Amino acid sequence: MKDLEFPLFKTKVENSPKFDLTDVKQREKYFDLKAGKEIKKLREYLKENTFIVYLLGKKNSGKGTYAKMFKEIVDKDRVEHFSIGDMIREVDKELNDEEKKKELINFLEKNYRGFIPLEEIIKSLENRSTSKLLPSELILALAKREIAKRGRKAIFVDGFPRELDQVSYSLFFRDLIDYRKDSDIFVLIDVPEAVIDERIKNRVVCPLCQTSRSLKLLPTKKVEHDKEEKKFHLICDNSECKGARMVVKEGDELGIEPIKERLKTDENLIKQAFSLYGIPKVLLRNSVPKDKAKEFVDDYEITPEYSYEWDEKNREVKMIEKPWQVLDDDGVSCYSLMPPPVVVSLIKQLTEALGL
Ligand SMILES: [Zn+2]
Repeated sequence: MKDLEFPLFKTKVENSPKFDLTDVKQREKYFDLKAGKEIKKLREYLKENTFIVYLLGKKNSGKGTYAKMFKEIVDKDRVEHFSIGDMIREVDKELNDEEKKKELINFLEKNYRGFIPLEEIIKSLENRSTSKLLPSELILALAKREIAKRGRKAIFVDGFPRELDQVSYSLFFRDLIDYRKDSDIFVLIDVPEAVIDERIKNRVVCPLCQTSRSLKLLPTKKVEHDKEEKKFHLICDNSECKGARMVVKEGDELGIEPIKERLKTDENLIKQAFSLYGIPKVLLRNSVPKDKAKEFVDDYEITPEYSYEWDEKNREVKMIEKPWQVLDDDGVSCYSLMPPPVVVSLIKQLTEALGL
């Protein structure tokens, strides 16, 4: 990130066997090798304690992916990924059900305190465009309700704070939801904008089952060559889709262009959180400069990129795999990492932040 240097984290282990990090079983073994000791400590800690993590990263930086992988690896039952975006979508559904709507209004009448009248909030919730921001006081009241529903667990909060004025609210969040004895930690994630841009541009989706893939980063088993278009297409792996071609969603070809403003706000949020005193911070980065890669990571931890060639003689598509190279926000040539090494870094730094 520009003007803010995230330290490199070493996940390289001498003579590590090669793991396929897309395979669930192999991933388990990988985590055991790279962070087995810390995972045990965290599991022990979670038997009696919880924590609150605020995930701060740019839109599409993979916050949800990291939190879900942490949960999968460390403790499925004692860790929750709590997405504010998902919560608001659930509230939207409740508003369409008379019974649930009554309950919701009833709850807010007792629990919401803020400057905007409740009637006005309900109205704006009902005919809301996704870009319109809801008042922080409302988000907090709803979050409290949702967290109480799920029982006492360690939580990764994803999507709050979302604006600069919400950073100070997050300092009192744990008191508000009755977690006051537990640790709270900011997890800041640095992902180069070029990575986010390419992820969006190469995203394809099955028109039938909506499964999402990437021509460049996450291909399907079968790839088709269209001679007239001189293009390659992914074929959905789902047998029920009967060979459907995956397609680019409208607008995705623009990459980060339409979300530039959002990315700027997210960057300012990260910088603001970075400068906070009195709260531990975990710093994650998903890229490693090319000339440092050998020292810090194992080859199989680098995200591969795929390209395609048409082999006329054998009449088949040839897939070419090589490490994915991008320029980071300072123009340094980097490799982008797979999610697991970033989660190893998260596990180790979190263990330390909790004093385990
Ligand atoms: Zn499909």
